[in-house]
Amino acid sequence: RNARDILKNELREVLAKGTASSAGPRSDAIANRPDFGSLEVYYQTVHRAEGGYSASGAEALVRWRHSQRGLLTPASFIPVAEEGGLIDALGFWVLREACRAACKWPDDTFVAVNVSPAQLRRPNFAEEVFAVLEESGLPPSRLELELTESSLIEDNSDVYSVLKSLRSRGIQISLDDFGTGFSCLSHLMRFDIDRIKIDRSFVSLLGTKANGAAIIGAIVALSRNLGISTTAEGVETEYQRDFLAALGCTDLQGYFFSKPVPLRELDCFREPESAA
Ligand code: C2E
Ligand code: CA
Ligand code: CA
Ligand code: CA
Repeated sequence: RNARDILKNELREVLAKGTASSAGPRSDAIANRPDFGSLEVYYQTVHRAEGGYSASGAEALVRWRHSQRGLLTPASFIPVAEEGGLIDALGFWVLREACRAACKWPDDTFVAVNVSPAQLRRPNFAEEVFAVLEESGLPPSRLELELTESSLIEDNSDVYSVLKSLRSRGIQISLDDFGTGFSCLSHLMRFDIDRIKIDRSFVSLLGTKANGAAIIGAIVALSRNLGISTTAEGVETEYQRDFLAALGCTDLQGYFFSKPVPLRELDCFREPESAA
């Protein structure tokens, strides 16, 4: 057996332990909260490009604290989860954790959760998301679901109706890693989306090649005309921050502001300690 198979079986065990008592979102799911032990959700803040760069929300990014291999990033186990049919369980666990966490943040902030193509293919996906929102009490407008273009490329009209249903309840939809696919403009036309996330590969061109600014400027102008918000990903320097703000991006995210951190270290949304 190769390393990938071993990892897959270990992840299956971690997930099975957590889902044994509550399969799928149910009203008692919070009481019987799955204990995934070694899985953990980190959060990376997103910042408004205007008015002092205050935090507008945070993106949930899953981690696996592996007993032998240390802290694993999603690149090493999300593909394994997708391949092994484990992504639904994993995705819903992250969603539930994220909604519960965001309930305690200020009302004008959002939490963004990544969604794999396989999750969107579930015919009941929207209803399952509504159930998680209801359990947690998070208003739908404070949840953003991040999809990649590969979710939309598939010739599947079900995906279209799932997205329509999510948006009809006020859930925000964003298109992740924008610019790395091939038919992005047609997606913008066909699917109503609220936000695009400009891929880090464009941001990293700023200050090195002139066309980085031209590409981002064009994406921002197009989005503005369509009433779509733009988050620039992978902002690592003050120069990039200032440049992207000047180009008109609505939000900024990257190591310059904060790395992804465990919930307990997410200080900017914490209520001030009560004096009483
Ligand atoms: P993503 O959605 O594009 O998330 C952004 C990634 O860029 C994160 O990597 C983040 O740590 C990293 N990043 C943020 N700012 C900077 C920066 O300034 N510089 C650099 N070099 N990197 C930055 P991470 O956490 O390793 O996640 C990798 C990918 O795994 C994510 O890419 C997302 O596609 C996927 N992922 C993470 N959590 C989940 C999840 O719960 N479900 C699903 N389906 N996918 C997830
Ligand atoms: Ca993302
Ligand atoms: Ca991204
Ligand atoms: Ca919106």
